[in-house]
Amino acid sequence: MTTISEVCAYLEQIAPLAQQESYDNAGLLTGDASAEVKGVLCCLDITEEVLAEAVETGCNLIVAHHPIIFKGLKRLTGRTYVERCVAMALREELAVYAIHTNLDNALYRGVNAAIAERLGLLNTRILAPRQERLRIQLWAPEDTDQSAVEELLKPYAPVWKSEQIRDGVQGHLWEAAFSISRKGEILSALRQMEPAGLRWSFLRVEEEDPHCGAGLLGEFPVPMDAGAFLDELKRRMKTDCIRHTHLPKGPVKKVALCGGAGSFLLGKAIAAGADVFISGDFKYHEFFDADGRIMIADIGHYESEQFTINLLCELLSEKFVTFAARCTRVRTNPVFYH
Ligand SMILES: [Zn+2]
Repeated sequence: MTTISEVCAYLEQIAPLAQQESYDNAGLLTGDASAEVKGVLCCLDITEEVLAEAVETGCNLIVAHHPIIFKGLKRLTGRTYVERCVAMALREELAVYAIHTNLDNALYRGVNAAIAERLGLLNTRILAPRQERLRIQLWAPEDTDQSAVEELLKPYAPVWKSEQIRDGVQGHLWEAAFSISRKGEILSALRQMEPAGLRWSFLRVEEEDPHCGAGLLGEFPVPMDAGAFLDELKRRMKTDCIRHTHLPKGPVKKVALCGGAGSFLLGKAIAAGADVFISGDFKYHEFFDADGRIMIADIGHYESEQFTINLLCELLSEKFVTFAARCTRVRTNPVFYH
């Protein structure tokens, strides 16, 4: 048996809640965390149709990208679709989990990685990395197996600093830096090794975090003609309409992208020298800001994020065998093109 809290813990290894933006509301929004998971339905948006689908297919957990409870909820009278959805989730005993900007900000297996993979981009890295990391100083007594210490810090590129005597005991000082959101993980690993007499301290440093941040940069293996690029973009991202600025003078090779509403990253995309910026939700006046320096390609908010549904389903299916994870069949995009 798998509990809802076990599923949440797994998703939070991939996209820690501490990685979400300050305005966000990712995490478990409704439901009993200790309940057994019967089935999971993955979607971008919670609607009454999606909730009905969960009931029909025997799923008691919904993993959605967008948090249905976002700005705070003061009443549940059924006056708005949000109120109706929350009331229905409670009535039908459906747990709702949102994995939002914490998944946007992930370098691997996040919203943007799914787009980059679909487009065949190489050499992907975060477009606007967070400017904050945690540095750990770890002291291990001489008689501790130093290779075990190194192994523990291995994912964070540890550096041996010096030999150091503490309280009359000779030991080795190690240093490593990592994403702030990984602190919990590292602490629990350290506590397991505590009998060895380790001592550690954490320090917040203003340093670029290559594993966490907004948007993604990548390159096509071969430069593409801009017109052919737009055709290909339309096909691969299954979008009916691309709103774009002037075609670039040369071919398209370097690409910046951000699933969802990404216009806030335009300056970063230009500064990075990208030929094109793929995102959604650009407003009329924001298109002017391209100013001949980049081609904006607005493929739509839903369209840019739709493959996140498959990503969530894959992540869950890889890990759990006691229940099935399915993608919603409801197309929740409220925008139509005529
Ligand atoms: Zn979105």
